[in-house]
Amino acid sequence: MSTRDTIEAIYAAVVRRNPGEGEFHQAVREVLDSIAPALAAHPEYAEAKIIERICEPERQIIFRVPWEDDRGEVHINRGFRVEFNSALGPYKGGLRFHPTVYLGIVKFLSFEQLFKNALTGMPIGGGKGGSDFDPKGRSGREVMRFCQSFMTELYRHLGEYTDVPAGDIGVGTREIGYLFGQYKRITNRYESGVLTGKGLAYGGAQVRKEATGYGAVFFADEMLRTAGESLDGKRVVVSGSGNVAIYAIEKVTHLGGVVIACSDSSGYLRDDKGVDVETLKEIKEVRRASLAEYVAARPHATYMPGRGVWEVPCQVAIPCATENEIDAAEATALVSGGCAAVVEGANMPATPAAVRVFAEAGVRFAPGKAANAGGVAASALEMQQNASRDSWSFTYSEQRLREIMRDIHARCYATADEYGMPGNYVAGANIDGFRLVAEAMLAHGLV
Ligand code: NDP
Repeated sequence: MSTRDTIEAIYAAVVRRNPGEGEFHQAVREVLDSIAPALAAHPEYAEAKIIERICEPERQIIFRVPWEDDRGEVHINRGFRVEFNSALGPYKGGLRFHPTVYLGIVKFLSFEQLFKNALTGMPIGGGKGGSDFDPKGRSGREVMRFCQSFMTELYRHLGEYTDVPAGDIGVGTREIGYLFGQYKRITNRYESGVLTGKGLAYGGAQVRKEATGYGAVFFADEMLRTAGESLDGKRVVVSGSGNVAIYAIEKVTHLGGVVIACSDSSGYLRDDKGVDVETLKEIKEVRRASLAEYVAARPHATYMPGRGVWEVPCQVAIPCATENEIDAAEATALVSGGCAAVVEGANMPATPAAVRVFAEAGVRFAPGKAANAGGVAASALEMQQNASRDSWSFTYSEQRLREIMRDIHARCYATADEYGMPGNYVAGANIDGFRLVAEAMLAHGLV
């Protein structure tokens, strides 16, 4: 069978065995489409059925999460943890609380995480989890009771050498605190390294909160420098206004770029003077309110309902909200508006059709599994500090993050070159991540 036929047969089996999980199919397709040259160069991977094994999670956990709201009404949510692959280290990846969460989303995120974690060069495998719980409009005590119930099942699957969750959409420092508190209570162990993204008061690490956004911007900076440009003076659009978006906006601003628009799930904000990060933090991190409130503090800005953020003309786009937020029409609007570089802060925010539009227009494109790896890299640094009972300064931690992002950029760039696809960061990231996982799996034998 030719390499192409082998890949098609494997993809058909993935679709058949995981029905209705469109996001997972999409993530697998993207990786399989890139790795053919690596498979042709390494027949031992096919012989050991490495791809078939990589596409099947090692373990999938689905559980009931009962909890009681402030009025005494009982609610039942569903919890998930997909432990995809531990060839490189304990399962590592965030938890997402959002009403759209189902097994297919968690599987796609977990699959992506595996290659992303490999690219960081740190000893961490791939996992992801979450729940269809919607934290919006819930009181702090309701969120706490939910987190406690969630952890009451999940704890038995975790451990610093087994599986180490962190945050994602809807799960930030507050939620990690409640989850850690319940883990400690149930196990009677102060196991700092069992969760990352912890508060600084009890084992959290400097720069973890900033790391995904900062890291994506460091990657953008490297990509632009390689092309003889920089972020300085560039007009930038960032989608979302959560953890990743806020710190991407902050770092773009540090590096001299001007972020003229950002968004949330209801609409988008335009501020031609540059989005003010402190106002954004006050609204989103402190008050957990709508982005629409920004206009009260900065009356020259405008807030529009709907998905129009990608219609704002810009030179660099950094999507930091959610998967499939840029389709072909939105990609075309970005190209028409003069966008020359797209860097994914979110996981898989561009659809395959959007990625094709960017490729045809010669737009430089950085996939999330490389560009947003700064978050998990900082998590691995948090685990390292926990294990050595140490804590590093902000400056040193940021410097480590910057070096890691520079290294990820360099290896994606070099791998794309090695396989005759210069400048193709998607191929570079997929092939390099895949090779690292495949080599470890071969070494471990058939497990
Ligand atoms: P947050 O929950 O902090 O923020 C998410 C932001 O995106 C919010 O502004 C939210 O709007 C908006 N959003 C969420 N869902 C949708 C949707 N369906 N349509 C439109 N807007 C939406 O999450 P994070 O910032 O942590 O995560 C953002 C992305 O980055 C995700 O793809 C995540 O997987 C990825 N990522 C996160 C990492 C991390 O360290 N946190 C690490 C690597 C990747 P609203 O404010 O209205 O809720």
